Amino acid sequence: MKIKAIRTTPLTVPYTQPIHTSYGPRDAARVILVEIEDDAGNIGYGESIAGPALQSVKHLLDKTAPSLIGCDPRGVDALVQNAMRDILSLPGANLDLFARRVVAGLDMALWDLAGKASGVPATVLMGGPLHDDVGYYAFINGDTPEELAAEGAKAVAAGAPVIYMKLGRGDDLDIAVVAAVRKAIGGARLRLDSNEAWDVMQARAMCNRLAHFNPEFIEQPVPGTSPSALKQVRQAAPFAIAADQAIHTPADVFAYVSADAADVIVLGPHETGGIALLLKAATIADAAGIRLCIHAVPETQITTCASFHAARTIANIDDANQEMAYLLSESLITAPSLKLINGRLAPWEGDGLGFSLDETAVARAAKRAKEELL
Ligand SMILES: [Mg+2]
Repeated sequence: MKIKAIRTTPLTVPYTQPIHTSYGPRDAARVILVEIEDDAGNIGYGESIAGPALQSVKHLLDKTAPSLIGCDPRGVDALVQNAMRDILSLPGANLDLFARRVVAGLDMALWDLAGKASGVPATVLMGGPLHDDVGYYAFINGDTPEELAAEGAKAVAAGAPVIYMKLGRGDDLDIAVVAAVRKAIGGARLRLDSNEAWDVMQARAMCNRLAHFNPEFIEQPVPGTSPSALKQVRQAAPFAIAADQAIHTPADVFAYVSADAADVIVLGPHETGGIALLLKAATIADAAGIRLCIHAVPETQITTCASFHAARTIANIDDANQEMAYLLSESLITAPSLKLINGRLAPWEGDGLGFSLDETAVARAAKRAKEELL
């Protein structure tokens, strides 16, 4: 069982409406589809986030791919570590998070291929499921308090038990938005995320104002460069504080839980460098009694499927994780449907990651990406 070929294809899939964050709006998921084929004709699929520049991610993937040819795809952990080391050893390429983003697509494709080649779901190779289904929150978007409130009401009516929204639009507007959403969603659970928008003093003041609306946590209210800053906010906040942008690696998780700087760790495969490392990071959080909430970035259904397989094997998985693919204008897969029932996703049949790629949707996404590069 040997890897025979690796192909990479840039894809662009627009969102139905822009995603707002404190970093600015996002109009589409831009990824690089990674296909790894073995000598029996099995193909594993993964995706790397095509940022900050599509060409640079594709270049590094294409440069790394030859070292995987001839290797047994079932050695996922070692192959991912070798690929990461290869990228980081390129002169001037020691950008840790960037290397992790590149390698994440290889990791996903390897889990998919290893499962298909072995005739088992990827979950089995990850140690076997600890959970049957996995919970997710509804991520609401909009430009005004009224639009966000309407989105929140719609999500709750559709069965979402947990609502998540971005802050960082300006303090008074943030409060107005949260007030409108809280009114619209009644007693549903509410999570907030200001994506590093505040300093410690502003974060403390905002947490006091936001407490009135009973959020269960706020994600990364202060820049992710300082465990001390997050700890200061946590010590003063009347609700839980989650670390997100602060954490990319198992070592980061260790640093934050050792410093008592977070109540929840928000982390996904595109930050860790894939699932093999995500599972290690989750175990460290578990040892500290802290939940891991799966993080999503502008990604497609391919990542949703990969993260789901990982989530089922994580003991301390949160009951409301992030997935963003449902916000896209079309799906890159024909199955599974990824439809949530009361905020929960049930497992599906199939070896590897178990999804079927929609070749025509992929072709459309590849055409869009090609046009953007012209
Ligand atoms: Mg976040």
